[in-house]
Amino acid sequence: MGDPILSGGCLCGAVRYSVSGRPVDCGYCHCRICQRASGAPLVAWATVPAECLTITAGVPQAYASSAHALRQFCARCGTPISFRSQRSPTHVDITIASLDDPSSLPPQYHIWTMSQVPWLKVDDHLPRHADGGPDRLT
Ligand SMILES: [Zn+2]
Ligand SMILES: [Zn+2]
Repeated sequence: MGDPILSGGCLCGAVRYSVSGRPVDCGYCHCRICQRASGAPLVAWATVPAECLTITAGVPQAYASSAHALRQFCARCGTPISFRSQRSPTHVDITIASLDDPSSLPPQYHIWTMSQVPWLKVDDHLPRHADGGPDRLT
C-alpha cells in the first residue's frame, strides 16, 4: 500500500474512502442487479486490490445482493460504494462515479450487455461482453 491516489465518498458525505495503488481495470456493468442496486441503467466500476480500499469516514451499510456478493452503500443517502465477491476475494470494485474525480478512470469494456436497456445508446468502441466477460465482475 502506498499513498492514497484516489479519494471518494457518498452524496451526503457521511462515508468517505481512499484508494492506494492503481486500479486493475475499469468497466461498465449492465447487469440487472447493478441496475436495481443503483437505480441507474448501468454502473461504472473500478477494480482494485482489496487491501487498497480504506474507509476513512463513516460506516457503510452492506447488502448481500447474491449468494456470493456484498455491496456497500451509505445508509443515509444510498450512494453505492463498493462490490465484493467471494469469487474474487482479493479484489474489490468501487463505483467510479463516487470518486471525487471520476474523469480519471475511463472504463475499458462493457459486461452483461444482454441486459442493457434498449434505449441506452453507447457510441464507443470498447469490448462488449454479453455476460460477465473473461474474468470480470459477476
Ligand atoms: Zn451518504
Ligand atoms: Zn453488475
